Amino acid sequence: MTVATRHFDILLVGGGLSAGLIALALARYRPDVSVGIVEQGATFGGNHTWSSFASDLSPEGAELVAPIIAHRWPSYEIRFPSFSRQLHSGYQSAFSHRLHDALVAALPSEALILGTPVAAVTPTGVTLANQQTISAGAVLDARGQRASQHLELGFQKFVGLEVELEEPHGLEGPIIMDANVDQLDGYRFVYTLPFTATTAMIEDTYFADGLQLDRAAVAERVHAYARSQGWRIRRIIREEDGVLPMTIAGDIRAHLATIPEGVVPVGMAAALFHPATGYSFPDAVRLALHVAKLPNLNGAAIDRAVRDYAVEVWNTRSFYRLLNKMLFRAAYPHERRGILERFYGLSDPLVKRFYAGHSTIPDKIRVLTGKPPIPIPRAIRGILKG
Ligand SMILES: Cc1cc2nc3c(=O)[nH]c(=O)nc-3n(C[C@H](O)[C@H](O)[C@H](O)COP(=O)(O)OP(=O)(O)OC[C@H]3O[C@@H](n4cnc5c(N)ncnc54)[C@H](O)[C@@H]3O)c2cc1C
Repeated sequence: MTVATRHFDILLVGGGLSAGLIALALARYRPDVSVGIVEQGATFGGNHTWSSFASDLSPEGAELVAPIIAHRWPSYEIRFPSFSRQLHSGYQSAFSHRLHDALVAALPSEALILGTPVAAVTPTGVTLANQQTISAGAVLDARGQRASQHLELGFQKFVGLEVELEEPHGLEGPIIMDANVDQLDGYRFVYTLPFTATTAMIEDTYFADGLQLDRAAVAERVHAYARSQGWRIRRIIREEDGVLPMTIAGDIRAHLATIPEGVVPVGMAAALFHPATGYSFPDAVRLALHVAKLPNLNGAAIDRAVRDYAVEVWNTRSFYRLLNKMLFRAAYPHERRGILERFYGLSDPLVKRFYAGHSTIPDKIRVLTGKPPIPIPRAIRGILKG
């Protein structure tokens, strides 16, 4: 028989982005509630950078994440064969080691449980891999992205190298998309974040149909891109890779039902990411504030509220899934760059609202009308298929 060794009002299973932000928001707005986080890794947040547009966050959200933002830029650039453009919209990167430090500062040490895999999760507690148990009033499953048979997905996949260069790169801000590269495996572009005058994260990225990522080949393309820009790499500081979901269609209720009722799905596990990018930072900030402000923080109440919230967010995003239908179902892979090129020809405020998930009806009409990069009958077939 196992005995519960600890108890928390709220227990977060998995100590990544979403769990970390929920814990910070609870510490700030509900200091009366005891919160624990169990993470299998050695640090909270792993080894990540999380970037977002400044306009994706409310003032309150911006305040919550201020301690974990390491870099901010006032504008960013995009490059396509027919034009390059500066967009005057802030961009920022949060670092996972700052999330770890913020948690250590905000929560008591007994609440921060590292190096501890969780083996089983129920609405009232968890069993750890070492068979110890922790009981809780509410259990939140924050174990991140997972496969789901209820979501039809395309993928944003990438390999990024954070590099130190021999000489300054000369960039003043990020290049979010440099699509002036050979088109392979769907839409390919390079994403560069200049952290200091001589360091940058360079990611070779694909909007692709399949999950497969040849890490060595893609890392070599990062080196080739750096050479093409005249940048000589002195050393690799850090590497990251990802295969992120871009939702085309799905059944959100069935997806959420894969997590047992009473265990609260949060973060990527609740499909809280932008369908056009697979990025979840702004959603994680919004969810953290939403949870911290719930009137009732017992397990059943949080579960109901968060599932309703995830369905509501899903329902507001049908437009982005429609565009993914065009991108992944209707367009041939070699046509995808043309779709993005046309989109980035639209106005700054429209692009800003698109990534914040706040496209207006006139925005949607503007995105869908005009000279289509793919023939209309094929676009309609792609939308109706499935
Ligand atoms: C390389 C990469 C770069 C990304 N960059 C961005 C970006 O720039 N901007 C953006 O908005 N999004 C980005 N994303 C997408 C997304 O925002 C991140 O994946 C984000 O970390 C997801 O948050 P999460 O809390 O849902 O899951 P995670 O942050 O992945 O957290 C899940 C945590 O659960 C832990 N865990 C899993 N199983 C167990 C277990 N059994 N027991 C204990 N712990 C467990 C894991 O170790 C992990 O720490 C990126 C993703 C990747 C992979």
